[in-house]
Amino acid sequence: MFGAMMNYPLTLVQILEHAHRIHGDKRVHTQLPNGKVHTYNYDTLYRRVKQLANAITTLGGRPGDSVATFASNRYQHLEICCAVPYAGAIIHPLNVRLAPTQLAKIVEEAEDKLIFVDGACAEQFSKLEEKIECEHVVLFNADTGQNENRTNPSIEYEQFISEADDDYISDIQDENWAMALCYTSGTGGEPKGVLYTHRSMYLHTLAANQADVFGLTESDVVMPLVPLFHAMGWGLPYASMFAGAEIVFADVKHERIVDLIVETGVTVAAGVPTVWARLLPELQKRKQEVSSLRRLIVGGEPMPPTLIEAYEKGLRVEVRHAWGMTEMSPTGTFCTLRKAHQNLSDTEKCKIKAMQGRPIPGVQMRLVSENETELPWDGKAIGEVQVRSPWTASGYYKNDSTPGHFTEDGWLRTGDLATINAEGYMQIVDRAKAIIRSGGESISTVALETVLLKYPSIKDAAVIGIPDEKWGERPLAVVVLSLQTDCDISETLRQHLATEFPKFWIPDKFVVVDEIPKTGVGKTDKHAILQMLLPNHKRKPHYVKHR
Ligand code: ADP
Repeated sequence: MFGAMMNYPLTLVQILEHAHRIHGDKRVHTQLPNGKVHTYNYDTLYRRVKQLANAITTLGGRPGDSVATFASNRYQHLEICCAVPYAGAIIHPLNVRLAPTQLAKIVEEAEDKLIFVDGACAEQFSKLEEKIECEHVVLFNADTGQNENRTNPSIEYEQFISEADDDYISDIQDENWAMALCYTSGTGGEPKGVLYTHRSMYLHTLAANQADVFGLTESDVVMPLVPLFHAMGWGLPYASMFAGAEIVFADVKHERIVDLIVETGVTVAAGVPTVWARLLPELQKRKQEVSSLRRLIVGGEPMPPTLIEAYEKGLRVEVRHAWGMTEMSPTGTFCTLRKAHQNLSDTEKCKIKAMQGRPIPGVQMRLVSENETELPWDGKAIGEVQVRSPWTASGYYKNDSTPGHFTEDGWLRTGDLATINAEGYMQIVDRAKAIIRSGGESISTVALETVLLKYPSIKDAAVIGIPDEKWGERPLAVVVLSLQTDCDISETLRQHLATEFPKFWIPDKFVVVDEIPKTGVGKTDKHAILQMLLPNHKRKPHYVKHR
């Protein structure tokens, strides 16, 4: 027998309308390309979203059409990320840091007909525009010059909005209707499209707002230093709107980020570890001024324990280490301490916090061996993490060639190798593609990097596997030093690693570089490192079966 409850579709419309009705006075702050800070509230955002939905429809946008953005995090970008799904179309934020040829393939696959471009990205966009066919371009934050110099003049955003009515009524009947298209960041291969539904995004937002996950409240001021193209900014803008928290948008590389934290009273900020490593010295210098900051949400890559300690102990900012994937909208696990950990020392607590944490409510997880048997949660057995949840993809967008990414019984193969302990805490050992296989043994690049980063004069480190005739593969470490030196530090680093690892784990070579290449979302780009050191080397095949 079915129950007798309302069959009310779970859609983004409810998130937006809740933000307007209940939290209409809450603000969105944006650092504009000219350095000024723009501020308005959710009421104004809501009115403009309705106008924008009307304008898109008038221009010919239909439900199910893909509408792209090529932009930094700004209030206009948020408006577009709300208005497009509000009008029943699919919002597709493009990763502005990908190469134009790669982006052109993505635009073609998504069939983007309308693209909203941020003036600050207009120059990069012109390189992409030559390679794509796009019916309409709408430009925001552009001075007139930028538009006049364009071969195909674009529509000006403010004019586009102001000519439209604000009486749009959204009519999305089916919660399984597609609402957003995000591509993986392409760290381990070509980016793949994930098509979110209204239902998956709504449920992800509810789950993310649990106390032990993002834990956002109406009193929070949230700074997502995660691009909107990276799994919709990890779902933070929608979660903030539902919670009634304020949002602060800034360019991740902007020199005034810390000023903005102080001026707007940011309480929760999110970003990849590289961002927090870069901002640490300034935050330490201005510790008293940034006292509003109470929590960091960190993910995308392992957060080094030394960095966690610097924030937790030095700045008294709680670090919540999270793991996820674009395929998971993106949240999978979150690391918060249990009541049972209360009496542990600070150092022991930080050690737990360096793990990726436990599955958030709604996410199911299992650990599977190479021969497809389920492994115990004993903190020792290493296997591939497989997941399922209402916000996990069931396939890739228009991609039939990826059946190996899903199991026959409907779980996603994450391609991540990990252990899970008896308390349910997962620890990533490596990506299956990155793990080094040397003489039949596995060497975790993540473990080596973590210990290298503990060495005082190492600012950044990455370990990759390079082909070796005798052993198959051998580790090579690439390091960035905080102080220039003419001495060869290889021997020192060898000894440092030898205190924690067996001899065969120690990298054969240590290469000092000025900077480690990063992907568009700020993750270490191991493929680029390999290309830099061995230009003729081909990508390594996947170690996990079926992939
Ligand atoms: P890509 O795989 O192209 O980088 P995503 O941005 O979706 O695309 O990244 C998901 C992957 O990022 C995960 O499968 C995992 O390998 C890695 N990852 C995410 N968070 C963490 C974390 N906290 N620690 C270690 N790895 C992480």
